[in-house]
Amino acid sequence: MIIKGGKVALPAADEPVAKDIRIEGEKIVEIGDDLKGNDILDASGLLVIPGGIDPHVHFDDPGYTEREDFYHGSMAAASGGITTVIDMPCTSVPPVTNLENLKRKLDVVREKSVVDYGFFGGVSAQSFEEGFPHYLEELSEYVLGFKTYFISGMPTFERLEHHQFREVLKVTRKFDLPVLLHAEDFEFIKRASEIEKKKGNTPQNYYNSRPEIAELIAIATAAIIAQEIDARLHIVHLGTAKAAELFNYTNLSFETAPHYLEFNVEDFIRIGSPLKVTPPVKGKGNREKLWSLLNDGKISFVASDHAPCPEIEKNTGSIWTDYSGIPGTGTLLPYLFSEGYMKGRLSWRRFVEAISSAAAKYYGLYYRKGSIEVGKDADLVLIDPQKRWVVEGNKFFSKGKITPFEGMEFKGRIVKTIVRGRVVYDEKDGITVEPGYGIFLKRKG
Ligand SMILES: [Zn+2]
Repeated sequence: MIIKGGKVALPAADEPVAKDIRIEGEKIVEIGDDLKGNDILDASGLLVIPGGIDPHVHFDDPGYTEREDFYHGSMAAASGGITTVIDMPCTSVPPVTNLENLKRKLDVVREKSVVDYGFFGGVSAQSFEEGFPHYLEELSEYVLGFKTYFISGMPTFERLEHHQFREVLKVTRKFDLPVLLHAEDFEFIKRASEIEKKKGNTPQNYYNSRPEIAELIAIATAAIIAQEIDARLHIVHLGTAKAAELFNYTNLSFETAPHYLEFNVEDFIRIGSPLKVTPPVKGKGNREKLWSLLNDGKISFVASDHAPCPEIEKNTGSIWTDYSGIPGTGTLLPYLFSEGYMKGRLSWRRFVEAISSAAAKYYGLYYRKGSIEVGKDADLVLIDPQKRWVVEGNKFFSKGKITPFEGMEFKGRIVKTIVRGRVVYDEKDGITVEPGYGIFLKRKG
């Protein structure tokens, strides 16, 4: 197949460049001008970028499949130009804390995913009772990092104390695997929640229980420990821009998510539960700083933190018990393109890095993913930059239909998503591959 006439995102280029791309089998074999052949895919007027990588999803499979499963989650990803997802260990049952559990999950996912996928392992308080550090060692070959929590709402996956966290870093350092941290301070939130729950059950109360300082305290602590151990630490779903300004040690990196880039606490008060995420969205002035940190590269990349749930779990009558999490993998790339690149908040180069290359490099997938180069997997997204569309949750491929982006108009429509040389999503035909097309990815280099 030849993708012809499009403007292509070449590695580290500052602008899209007119090039044709020849694909044979699963790989890109030639990039050039005026390529000839029989099987032509006309990309005139379209942008061609490397497949998006969503390095933080909760597809809940096996376990909580009433919320999401790998088939629906991966279809949502494909429809949003995401060709690789990395799934979290904590929201499937059993959690991926040892090799046996990872293999059980792989058996289930193998039959379902329409995009390629990698897994994170997890380390919880339970790991220390069951098999630490042995569990980490046996997982190290199969996972792309280890997820940990300083505060957790999950009885099956409890938070780590600081001492345990430090022990984890000593082990992961040996494998050069990053530790991913949900960074909010347990002590602060415990007291603040008790106080706020007595005051009321509004979004404002929920925000007051987990404000910026709760995130800053946690990141400061974790960053100091990681620096001492000289281990890789990655802060997931960063809400508080100030944290990325204050802490910039080597080996410390950040991701943020569209909801933090778009919304603040006033939006949360207006929208309510459909915008309930943890950490909650932050105060005024924060989102502008997040955009600029993302454009500077001080925040490395974006992720969706895709975590949907059935409507009933979002409407319990109290913000304290409403499910925390939103679907997001399908809107991640369109959001970043429309509100980042098209609005001039992100350069072309940073847009491509933030949605694909940076996460591929960070998690050891760059040997086959994350850029348009000869020899790499033909994972490509074709975007019509002029086409406008409106977000409608009930049209999502995800099981989750409630989104804070409901009704927003984005500029830039995904026309086709290609994974290893095959069109997996087409704007007109929808999903065009069978469940199970996606493959399991391991890291290299
Ligand atoms: Zn998450």
